[in-house]
Amino acid sequence: MDVRTNYVYKRTHSGYRNDEDSGMKELYIAGNRTEAASGASYETLNPADASVLETVSEAGPADVDRAVAAARAAFDTGPWPRTTAAGRAALLTAIAGLLQRDREALARTETLDTGKTLRESRIDVDDVTAVLRYYAGLADGHAGRVADTGNPDAVSRIVHEPVGVCALIAPWNYPLLQMSWKLAPALAAGNTTVLKPSELTPLTTIALVRLAEEAGVPPGVVNLLLGRGHTVGQALVAHPGVDLISFTGGLATGEKIMSAAARGVRRVALELGGKNPNIVFADADLDTAVDFALTAAFLHCGQVCSAGSRLILQDAIHDEFVADLAERAGAIRLGDGLDPEAEAGPLVSAAHRAKVERHISGALAEGATLLAGGRRPAGPELAAGFFLRPTVLGGCTCATTVVREEVFAPVVTVERFATEDEAVRLGNDTDYGLAGAVFTAEAGRAERVARALRHGTVWINDFHPYLPQAEWGGFGKSGIGRELGPSGLEEYQEKKHIYHNIRPRPVRWFRG
Ligand code: NAD
Repeated sequence: MDVRTNYVYKRTHSGYRNDEDSGMKELYIAGNRTEAASGASYETLNPADASVLETVSEAGPADVDRAVAAARAAFDTGPWPRTTAAGRAALLTAIAGLLQRDREALARTETLDTGKTLRESRIDVDDVTAVLRYYAGLADGHAGRVADTGNPDAVSRIVHEPVGVCALIAPWNYPLLQMSWKLAPALAAGNTTVLKPSELTPLTTIALVRLAEEAGVPPGVVNLLLGRGHTVGQALVAHPGVDLISFTGGLATGEKIMSAAARGVRRVALELGGKNPNIVFADADLDTAVDFALTAAFLHCGQVCSAGSRLILQDAIHDEFVADLAERAGAIRLGDGLDPEAEAGPLVSAAHRAKVERHISGALAEGATLLAGGRRPAGPELAAGFFLRPTVLGGCTCATTVVREEVFAPVVTVERFATEDEAVRLGNDTDYGLAGAVFTAEAGRAERVARALRHGTVWINDFHPYLPQAEWGGFGKSGIGRELGPSGLEEYQEKKHIYHNIRPRPVRWFRG
């Protein structure tokens, strides 16, 4: 079977169906595609119209045992951890090439599964390719170092070795991207892996695993479990055969995972939520800052961990800025992500939209003012999907619940400040610390504020860009550890010091 066509879908009366097979998407364990031991399955939906996209195998504890055993055997006795760095780099480069070959099909699948626009999905596939290529380049360039012993008869080396079996658990908003931030460095370091994508958006991870297979990954090195977090995810993180858990998702799940990792003292890396300040000083170019505020808050319908969901405006520009923002938010064109005219898609699920609507009504009850959105789109065209109009909430303070809690939706709150000190104080008044931005024309102030903000990424006069080469992660409750950059590889490496006495002879410390 040509794996390329396996995730090309065509529209039928019931939605999108796989062209070739029965539609069942299987687990991948020890190099074999396999249904769940229990035979269980579930359906994934297209959030743009609630139609069924695929039937997917639903793993259970028996499958977790099988997948971890396969990864364990591949790590303990298989070739992968002992493959040269050049060999590991070659595999990552091959997967990157296959991603580009299948770019359009992957992007369409990501759009169908998540609801994001095709334009965004294409960027995601290109970003994933760049991350794989970056870690291919780093695989042998970050293998260890030599330390000066101060003794001509001794040599000291710090060598980097793989950690072992890694459980890689990803969220639904950037399924392919978030998984690649874990899989690429884990493989580059020589680990074996068990992947668990979100139950809501598994399709591009299934495709990624097939591309890894096509690229020649040895059996057991990449295993795939599908299913829900509180069943298969929980069984995976509790499994004693797992050496490292890398998780991206919500704070409450992250806390559970950290306590699961404590049993057996397993390594854990957490990329959690954010409540990210976007601070605009009065000297910033208004048109540019409003434009960035829109993408900061509403890209992928605000379902972005680093979304600029807290807009913090200097008093002098507040009224004009807010009026402009509300008008432009009101003009954002919603639609099916495959529609080239759509500027933003739906939320991921009916349950998520219901939660967001509760957040909005709670904010209004606490005294916030609705300046745009706050409702579902009118008209029948989008009524079946999980759409919500981009929402601007004015009159907020740090005490407003919606300012403190992650909403993960197209909802931006507006606070105001008078002085630079106050802007910094507000920007840091959060339990999270993932990302923030400052817009100002004054370079010195930009630098002072960027240094003072307690967030893992700070953008100056920009919002959202990230680089494979630059560390990504959070201060505070936004997580532990870093993805991307050299640190993203080090998460998956043990460091061993080898001290070699090259002229051994008695030292006669004891005279006896
Ligand atoms: P989630 O925590 O509900 O789920 C994330 C993943 O964990 C899913 O695969 C889920 O099935 C699994 N899971 C759930 N419960 C589990 C358990 N008890 N044990 C093991 N696995 C379990 O998060 P979500 O709703 O999918 O994603 C949204 C969250 O992700 C937001 O909070 C967002 O900020 C965060 N996020 C963070 C980053 C970052 O880089 N910091 C990036 C993207 C998303």
